[in-house]
Amino acid sequence: MVKETRTADVVIVGGGASGLAAAIELGMKAPALDVLVIEKLAEPGRKIRATGSGRCNISNTGAAGFNRIMEFFREIGLVTRTYDNGLVYPYSESAADVATLLVERAASLGVRFACGEELMSVKYMPSSLVSQPLPGSGNVFQLESVFKDRDGIRSVITQASFVIMATGGKAGPTYGTIGDGYRIARNLGHSVVTPVPALTGIECGEWDEDHGPCGITLGGTRSAGVVSLYRDRSHAFSEGTKIFEEAGEIQFTKYGLSGICVFNMTRHMRYDRRGGESLDDFLVKADLFPDGDLAEYIRDRQNGAFSETPAGELLRTVLKEPLADYIIRTVSGGAVDEEGRGIEDRPLSSLSDEEVRSFADHVHALTFHPSQIRGWNDAQVTMGGVSLDEINEATSESLLVESLYITGELADRDYQCGGFNLSNAWLTGLAAADDIAGRTKE
Ligand SMILES: Cc1cc2nc3c(=O)[nH]c(=O)nc-3n(C[C@H](O)[C@H](O)[C@H](O)COP(=O)(O)OP(=O)(O)OC[C@H]3O[C@@H](n4cnc5c(N)ncnc54)[C@H](O)[C@@H]3O)c2cc1C
Repeated sequence: MVKETRTADVVIVGGGASGLAAAIELGMKAPALDVLVIEKLAEPGRKIRATGSGRCNISNTGAAGFNRIMEFFREIGLVTRTYDNGLVYPYSESAADVATLLVERAASLGVRFACGEELMSVKYMPSSLVSQPLPGSGNVFQLESVFKDRDGIRSVITQASFVIMATGGKAGPTYGTIGDGYRIARNLGHSVVTPVPALTGIECGEWDEDHGPCGITLGGTRSAGVVSLYRDRSHAFSEGTKIFEEAGEIQFTKYGLSGICVFNMTRHMRYDRRGGESLDDFLVKADLFPDGDLAEYIRDRQNGAFSETPAGELLRTVLKEPLADYIIRTVSGGAVDEEGRGIEDRPLSSLSDEEVRSFADHVHALTFHPSQIRGWNDAQVTMGGVSLDEINEATSESLLVESLYITGELADRDYQCGGFNLSNAWLTGLAAADDIAGRTKE
């Protein structure tokens, strides 16, 4: 393998959200520094293009450092729009525009890019051992990366005075993030909280392979509602303690549950497999009629104009048909009366108090047993990462290796949906760049 060498003042590993924010900020605040971005994929910012379903929810008015983030976007000329719920998007609602602007801005500020190049290892030694070290830097780093060209696989050694590790986590591996940064951080002495996928769907034991629960195809059905998560179930009949609740659109898929409220729920589903915990400790409930008491609603209609309305017909005015069918199936188990009628065909007036209560209980607390949290391909974020005990929160600098910075999702920080994860990436990248710019000022 042919080895080449080169130098840079600052190497940023990873041309994602965090790395690009850091690169631009360095270009603006410390234009004399030679900044190199090493990006594994053929172009930087691939994940940014996929964010927010192609719209890029760049921030949230409730995010830490919101004003700082917006100041940065104003400086680079991005026009934004903020919705009443606090979510911030580029005005064009185009994630591709954000990625293009970031890359072009960095390049116009003189930032160099080495794309299609994968960082393999980082070594360092105190800069006191180097002649003419860059002022402000405590260490000199040697980074080994590889790339492929017509002559085969080539290896490059880059010497740098500052390194920003912005390699992201493991969520969305098609965007270049397969967890390389964890190995490199561990080799530099850092500890890594076990990464697990989050902001993703939940597979449920109720679903059978080809259909949905009870053989009813729920895939594609959406319903407004409230999802709740229970944990620490001591036995199969206990529901445990409620640890999470969120209202929103619940999406029923071919494997189980999805939607933003379900995604947010998965951040509360970390469990200790080695300590004997499992997903069996969790239970999910969905209230599909959160605005009232369904039992009361049915009772009001048992006498008078609606008394002869079949129960199934009433339920289908409350829920989408597949969900109504599922509730009917779970309430009745498919049983029929002596006239051969299923509960759905019987008039409301014939329902016993117990049957009315049973309908209401199922609609208000439809219960699902999680069997699997969807994996890295579906996850939007990584829970876990480089331990925050080993990173300076204000500057993103490693507390173990001077002049090494750990930014974005690579560190053990994750947030709910709504622009908070990108906010973390921008903000930690900016903090690292500002610190380097301040330290290298002569
Ligand atoms: C589909 C999807 C939609 C999302 N939507 C939103 C949203 O709308 N709002 C929001 O706030 N968050 C969203 N997120 C989360 C958000 O995108 C991430 O939290 C954020 O991008 C993390 O930024 P980062 O810079 O830490 O890492 P990334 O943006 O993941 O960038 C890391 C970069 O490092 C590169 N890299 C990795 N290893 C190496 C290596 N060894 N050598 C060189 N380069 C390497 C990768 O190729 C990648 O380009 C979404 C995530 C996904 C997957």
